[in-house]
Amino acid sequence: MNKYKELNPSLRTIMTPGPVEVDPRVLRAMSFPILGQFDPEFTMLMNETMEMLRDVFQTSNEWSFPVDGTSRSGIEAVLVSIIQPGDKVLVPIFGRFGHLLVEIAQRSGAEVVFMETEWGSVFDPQIVIEAIHTHKPDIVALVHGETSTGQMQPLAEIGKMCRQLDILFVVDAVATIGGVPVKTDAWHIDAVIGGTQKCISVPSGMAPITYNQRIETKLRSRKQIERGLRDPASLDHEPSLVPVRSNYFDLSQIQDYWSSARLNHHTEATSMLYGLHEGLRILLQEGLEDRFARHELNEKALVQGIKAMGLSLYGDEDSKLPCVTCINIPAGMDGETVRNKLLQDFGIEIASSFGPLKGKIWRIGTMGYSCNRKNVLHVLGALEAVLIHEGHKLPAGEAVQAALSVYAESSKEEVSC
Ligand SMILES: *Cc1c(COP(=O)(O)O)cnc(C)c1O
Repeated sequence: MNKYKELNPSLRTIMTPGPVEVDPRVLRAMSFPILGQFDPEFTMLMNETMEMLRDVFQTSNEWSFPVDGTSRSGIEAVLVSIIQPGDKVLVPIFGRFGHLLVEIAQRSGAEVVFMETEWGSVFDPQIVIEAIHTHKPDIVALVHGETSTGQMQPLAEIGKMCRQLDILFVVDAVATIGGVPVKTDAWHIDAVIGGTQKCISVPSGMAPITYNQRIETKLRSRKQIERGLRDPASLDHEPSLVPVRSNYFDLSQIQDYWSSARLNHHTEATSMLYGLHEGLRILLQEGLEDRFARHELNEKALVQGIKAMGLSLYGDEDSKLPCVTCINIPAGMDGETVRNKLLQDFGIEIASSFGPLKGKIWRIGTMGYSCNRKNVLHVLGALEAVLIHEGHKLPAGEAVQAALSVYAESSKEEVSC
């Protein structure tokens, strides 16, 4: 007898900032038969995935492909591949994932300068631009949507200044890609890292990235050093060039594998690629603008419902990240008891937060396939019920009604236009 039971995971309503629910069509795609990695049928899927990623990243970059590994593998691949030991990297931090950029940049050999703003807010772009003038970095690395605090940093002005000063601008858009506009080219971003398990709604395990010629030039010069094609001493402009410190994350090698040369690097994650291909197909079929509008509408319904319940939002509402809503846990309430009851009694998962915010806020995600009317109404009704059960006084029934009004209003607008 086998002591291990057959796998049978519960069907959850996942309202966290990832991983989120996945469209059954994506799950089905992931169960299809394996193709060899150089099979023309498979390489065609690779090429189509690159094409679709260009649309999602809103870029004309040649290079848009997934790195195999979770989202941070994409961050690590970009940073370790472009950072020369001693390069100066400026990281403005407004939450937990800014610290991740610092750590990866330091491990890649950078001299990191960081600046912080209070959690729950973002930077005035002018403050970052001043810091750029002061520190004259080689690279600026910045998070777009901070899932830890539910805040979104405006990027356009910072990108423009970086381009003007010939500084490389790298953005972690893991939380925003596919749910909120990420305008790679218009915002002058040189490299963007996305995630699969958030607004793209594919399981965790790949990191779609894109980068432009400016990044590629740096990759190429380092590769020539590695292959002994150029003598480092002959390069007066960059005498310190050294090979990339990683094999797995060496972007120039990964790029050669995704290029028509198909130089073998790793074995592409077949089933994950099927899932990403199907997820991107579904995303583009919905259309970027309609998808962004759906994220906005469900966020609005959720926020109105939370406020109608008498709860308050955490953080600056002007810079709120549309796909994550942070809620102050009412005084005297144990946040974890509420989360456990939501999971056990209603099958709903919401998130807590990290570091200084642990025990202070709940975070509700409205991302990708999870971002729908049924889920929003379900989480509002359930949260209200659990809070009342735990002895919290609130205007019963108001939350779901407020959300229903938002939906009713939006369908009236649709009819009228
Ligand atoms: C989720 C997230 C990550 C990390 O993603 P993993 O897939 O867990 O590696 C990085 N940055 C941001 C902004 C995120 O929201």
